[in-house]
Amino acid sequence: MPCTGRFAPSPTGPLHFGSLLAALASYLDIRARNGRWLVRIEDIDPPREQPGAADAILQTLDAFGLHWDGEVVYQSQRYTFYEEALQQLIRLDTAYRCRCSRKQLRTRGVLGYDGHCLQHPPEITTDVAWRLKHTQAEQQFEDRIQGLRHYHWAGHEGDCVIYRRDGLFAYQLAVVVDDAEQGITEVLRGSDLIDETPHQMELQDQLGYRRPRYAHIPVITNREGQKLSKQNLAPAIDARQRQTLLLQALKLLGQQPANELADASLEELLLWGCQHWRLEAVPAVLQLAPDGTPLGAPVLDNIQPDGSAPR
Ligand SMILES: [Zn+2]
Repeated sequence: MPCTGRFAPSPTGPLHFGSLLAALASYLDIRARNGRWLVRIEDIDPPREQPGAADAILQTLDAFGLHWDGEVVYQSQRYTFYEEALQQLIRLDTAYRCRCSRKQLRTRGVLGYDGHCLQHPPEITTDVAWRLKHTQAEQQFEDRIQGLRHYHWAGHEGDCVIYRRDGLFAYQLAVVVDDAEQGITEVLRGSDLIDETPHQMELQDQLGYRRPRYAHIPVITNREGQKLSKQNLAPAIDARQRQTLLLQALKLLGQQPANELADASLEELLLWGCQHWRLEAVPAVLQLAPDGTPLGAPVLDNIQPDGSAPR
């Protein structure tokens, strides 16, 4: 099976530096092995999306020379696949209806889930969610960057939502169906998603899919551990500063481009990246000091703490 990876952004805003880091790492990890690199737009949560963001993300990837194979896949066009998977889980009797609101869960002090709706099945109405019953109380995997991860759930703690009360398919289900259907063998993404992985593995097992390998790159945070995100309004990256940003991204990923690459073109930088890619050099944690220098790592160029280009 050829090695196949993907970059799968949600179009909730333009690409920010943290997402560029994930896209670049995934691209290099795949291209270094002459694999296929795909792009998938995860646009199944319209309330959170921003018009034009998908196109803007694709243009930025293109401007950085991160060219993908084949057609871009849009999750919004794939509901039939998700519906099929949901029906399969219902037939397996591992999907169950849940009408608990966030407020009710909060009131009951529930972390994860407490199995309430298994004991008290809700009426069959339209605004009902579906949860996945975990069949394994424990799950573990070897992350290629973060090392061995071990999870344990008591009772129904791990039962996650796969179809939302508002009638939208949950991220967990869509991502698992698409990774399988697109033949993804390598998932490399931000570590903010690492704890979703065991739920996705449970889904893969139940649906009879082959598991991809996982690698989670660190999410850039400030000293307080707050991550850069579209939510805290990290500005979009400036494509005019492409070489500088790419060079900084390579360094933050622990790669060590030689000094003579300081004036290299975009193409030369990407080629160097592919030829010298070392996943084992990617740090597990990446914190930036207020002046933009990584904490506990060599002093690098001045990326702003919000992830924007140097000013
Ligand atoms: Zn419930």
